[in-house]
Amino acid sequence: MTFSLAIVGRPNVGKSTLFNRLVGKRLALVDDQPGVTRDLREGDARLADLRFTVIDTVGLEDATDDSLQGRMRRLTERAVDMADICLFMIDARVGVTPVDEIFAEILRKRAKHVILAANKAEGAAADAGVIEAYGLGIGEPIRLSAEHGEGLNDLYTTLLPLA
Ligand code: GDP
Ligand code: MG
Repeated sequence: MTFSLAIVGRPNVGKSTLFNRLVGKRLALVDDQPGVTRDLREGDARLADLRFTVIDTVGLEDATDDSLQGRMRRLTERAVDMADICLFMIDARVGVTPVDEIFAEILRKRAKHVILAANKAEGAAADAGVIEAYGLGIGEPIRLSAEHGEGLNDLYTTLLPLA
């Protein structure tokens, strides 16, 4: 049995860094459906003995604050509907923002399974943000550093019973 995992969250929290770490060079071939390949990127992920499809949401980077919310909602809903599990990522150095709260609400209503990840969590500068993440109502955050490869054990043990 395999599963798909969508990484969602506001721009700059580290989604693509985690995607790249999970996928390495194994980018999946995606068909050329308009709108789909532009905003959602699929890859074949490996995490220890787990193999799964990972979906990176890439379509929000060039949105202005004005246009972000609507695009975010549409894109997140598409990713959520495609994926078995959503990994909702926040930036632990920044803490929980109003945009994060909007994501959390969409996910609480719509996603089958949500995993919360507090990224950029290497070092003590992230401690306050990790604590804040509990307030999102999505359960215990996984402390991750996508850039440094920390917290992948916890990601693995969280995914294992869902796989
Ligand atoms: P995305 O917009 O959510 O896809 O974010 P990116 O993966 O493009 O990362 C945004 C920035 O955060 C980049 O400069 C990354 O190098 C940085 N970044 C990603 N993960 C980490 C991390 O674990 N720790 C730190 N300190 N920086 C990170
Ligand atoms: Mg990205």
